[in-house]
Amino acid sequence: MKSLWSASEAAQFTTDLELRVYTSRLLGRDPSLVLHGGGNTSVKIREPSMLGREEDILYVKGSGWDLATIEAPGFAPVRMQHLIELATLPSLPDPQMVNELKTHMTNASAPTPSVEAILHAVLPFKFVDHTHADAIVTVTNNPNGRQYIEEIYGNSVVVIDYIMPGFDLARQCAKQFAEQAHTGTQGMVLMNHGVFSFGETARESYERMIALVDKAEDFIKEKGAWNVSFSARKTNAAPQAIARLRKDIADSAGFPMIVARDDHEKATAFSQRDDVDTISQQGPATPDHVIRTKPLPMLGTDVNRFVAGYKNYFDTNEPHARDRKTMLDVAPRLVIDKQLGLLAAGKNAKDAAIIRDIYDHTIDIILRAEQLGGYRALPARDIFDMEYWDLEQAKLKRGGKSPMFTGEVALVTGAASGIGKACVDSLLARGAAVVGLDNNTAVSDMHERVDYLGLVCDVGEEQQIAHALERTVMRFGGIDMLVLNAGVFPGGKQIAELPLAEFQRVMRINLDANISFMRQCHPYLKLAPKGGRVVLMGSKNVPAPGPGAAAYSASKAALVQVGRIAALEWGGDNIRVNILHPDAVFDTGIWTKEVLAARAEYYGLTVDQYKRKNILKTEVTSHDVAELATELCGPLFAKTTAAQLPIDGGNDRVI
Ligand code: ZN
Repeated sequence: MKSLWSASEAAQFTTDLELRVYTSRLLGRDPSLVLHGGGNTSVKIREPSMLGREEDILYVKGSGWDLATIEAPGFAPVRMQHLIELATLPSLPDPQMVNELKTHMTNASAPTPSVEAILHAVLPFKFVDHTHADAIVTVTNNPNGRQYIEEIYGNSVVVIDYIMPGFDLARQCAKQFAEQAHTGTQGMVLMNHGVFSFGETARESYERMIALVDKAEDFIKEKGAWNVSFSARKTNAAPQAIARLRKDIADSAGFPMIVARDDHEKATAFSQRDDVDTISQQGPATPDHVIRTKPLPMLGTDVNRFVAGYKNYFDTNEPHARDRKTMLDVAPRLVIDKQLGLLAAGKNAKDAAIIRDIYDHTIDIILRAEQLGGYRALPARDIFDMEYWDLEQAKLKRGGKSPMFTGEVALVTGAASGIGKACVDSLLARGAAVVGLDNNTAVSDMHERVDYLGLVCDVGEEQQIAHALERTVMRFGGIDMLVLNAGVFPGGKQIAELPLAEFQRVMRINLDANISFMRQCHPYLKLAPKGGRVVLMGSKNVPAPGPGAAAYSASKAALVQVGRIAALEWGGDNIRVNILHPDAVFDTGIWTKEVLAARAEYYGLTVDQYKRKNILKTEVTSHDVAELATELCGPLFAKTTAAQLPIDGGNDRVI
């Protein structure tokens, strides 16, 4: 564990709050210290109130902020005096505690203060840092944890036995700190949970955190428990088995989920271990994780068995809770299977990625703790209290209403430009995880986000399609929506001059490739939790063909017929197939300025008049077509299949 403090970086931050921002980000930069919203930090600052009275304010991390990216507005300012007085109460239920924190802020629009605010307040240091460092939970989740902590730190830390975060923990820490701390005290270790450091400057508090964690890492190394070796056997992770599993998981949850396979060798090797049934079933590395991961991963692929186990855990522990609880969804968040490897199930792609990251660290923690004498997590009852803690539930609920396609997967062909690119945007905007395919390599880095995967694919090659579908399923768990947009529109050629090879080339891309996609996607679409949906990009040329476009019009007409038959054949599988007929969409690659000007001139029109050459005198954009394609997959059209919708501003030949 190395300090990342840099004098030149630090020089850009001057005030105490700015330096608090800087060292919080340093903690956030190292995932073995802080993962996805974990940990919290604070600084105590004396400042004048509106009435000119000097008062001490605790600036503590606000809920919803991540230390890695936190900014000054991410710290909630709470009056110290009130916090110190609250800490003397014999008890304070969580909802009231949150109310007290919120009503004693000096800025009404600041975020909700961390639930550990009172704990930060009672530690008598200007700066306080708290993490769930991997090395600390490795050492403390152990039958000899307490003894190890004494070996590592002597009496330089105060050690707190596990208590659930909240008011009771703050009180216990205040009490023990007052009794046990001395001038040599460097920090506070919370068994099975994490570690606190503190200091008079941002740097001192940060460097102490690094030193404390470094000592724990050294201890693990001295005991020969640091290095974990692994080698995975070849797996047989069939994409269809993963899609089947995703369907079962979604059914148990009651909503679609993204299932992401962790294809790192470490994860696969872990899932193949002989002792995985034992070591994976102890519990999370720190109680915070249970909100994301649920108490235990599912072993194997029998979701019903997992659900029964989860219900039993709820029924066993709920009667001991302080107030009555409503059961959360019962779906697993992690799957460990000897054939399929390690998979993370999340409400969306970001959620699944976070769960995968958490377990990636958990594997290291488990394996090192095993080499250190045995990995032992907290009893199920403590984990239950955390999972069903009102305040933690509130964190998850704050997200608000989910977008339309949350947890669903869409695949778009011809995704690098024009209508395809716009479809990717429209689907992402509605919460879907999207895979974009194109033969243009630009498709790969069109979006840098976890819910997008861009793959270079020649749709004319069946093998390449198969490979793209396999990668889609490994990344997101299935395919729910298929938008077949890729197509070619060769320059006008009359039939008398049309070589057969050119006709066949157009048919191969506009027709054959789409048949390949439909055939290969059918098994996945059938397993879509909310039913499969296919949107085919037809053309105005189907109902109203023009001279010089025989190959194009014939290919699109044939595609429409294929779509109609698919609607008949697949209705029983709950798959809807609908068709759009766009026309004169000019914001695409093929319509350069020059081509547009030439066509307008040919008709004796200005470019603008030419673009609006339709009944409604309106311009049809790629975005317009994409929005309609996307809505065709949504609930508005839930009872529509085999429909053909024009999106052309009205065309008198079609009408
Ligand atoms: Zn904590």
